[in-house]
Amino acid sequence: MQAICLRIKKKSSIAVVPTMGHLHDGHLALVRIAQRKASVTIVTIFVNPLQFGQNEDCQVYPRDERGDLKKLRRLGVDYVFMPKVFAMYPEGFKTTVHVEHVTKNLCGRSRPGHFDGVATVVLKLFEITRPDFAVFGKKDYQQLVTIKTMVKDLDLPVRILAAPIVREKDGLAMSSRNIYLKPAERRPALALYRGLLAVKKVCRNGHPDRQQIEKIFRNQIPKDKRIKLEYIECVNVRTLEPCKTFKRNNTLVAAAVFIGNTRLIDNVVV
Ligand code: AMP
Repeated sequence: MQAICLRIKKKSSIAVVPTMGHLHDGHLALVRIAQRKASVTIVTIFVNPLQFGQNEDCQVYPRDERGDLKKLRRLGVDYVFMPKVFAMYPEGFKTTVHVEHVTKNLCGRSRPGHFDGVATVVLKLFEITRPDFAVFGKKDYQQLVTIKTMVKDLDLPVRILAAPIVREKDGLAMSSRNIYLKPAERRPALALYRGLLAVKKVCRNGHPDRQQIEKIFRNQIPKDKRIKLEYIECVNVRTLEPCKTFKRNNTLVAAAVFIGNTRLIDNVVV
């Protein structure tokens, strides 16, 4: 793959879209952005064991290679890179990338090592595919900031493009994990976005503090034992440091909830 990309790069620009597969319209929107930016588009599909914790869903993460290839072929993607785990991490693999600070809050609190796994695999994918552009979704906002930080700190010659969150008609952010939701869990799952929208509305008209924001969000979460709030946090959009004061378009309100066994994340900029 690296040899192919080095050859392409002599004449053309490359955009890469890293994914874990089981592609939905959110992923495909990223692909379209990549196609507009560069003459050759590469999608990578790799369920990266390094970014999953011990009790997480790496083994059972949804996979649909044939369906994914069909969708990507229909879009006219030039290359799909689908390496096996042993090819990415052969025996004796010893290096990890750790991005400080921006990986501390939000999901970093409950998923230690997760962003090290993300940064490591993305750096490898960049080295392999040599992209001019790489597209990431704002759905995984902390991941986006982590990658941007790594690119800046390590002087990587790639431009990171951020894509807006693509949602289902009912507002639920698209995610490969949504298929885990049982039919009865679908309605409770909508509380996540409803809570964030309520926060956004209040921020438009006033200046609530962090406690008030948490209260507004919690008020939208029905009392239901299937729903467990992991976090709701207000952070600076760039540094991901907890916010004390609010400035327009400067604050990210991000939340993670469990609906049954399914962990969902979402965010809005306020
Ligand atoms: P994943 O396959 O979940 O690792 O996601 C691959 C890329 O797609 C990441 O950059 C995600 O942020 C992005 N992505 C996933 N879901 C969405 C969505 N609903 N809207 C926009 N981007 C998304």
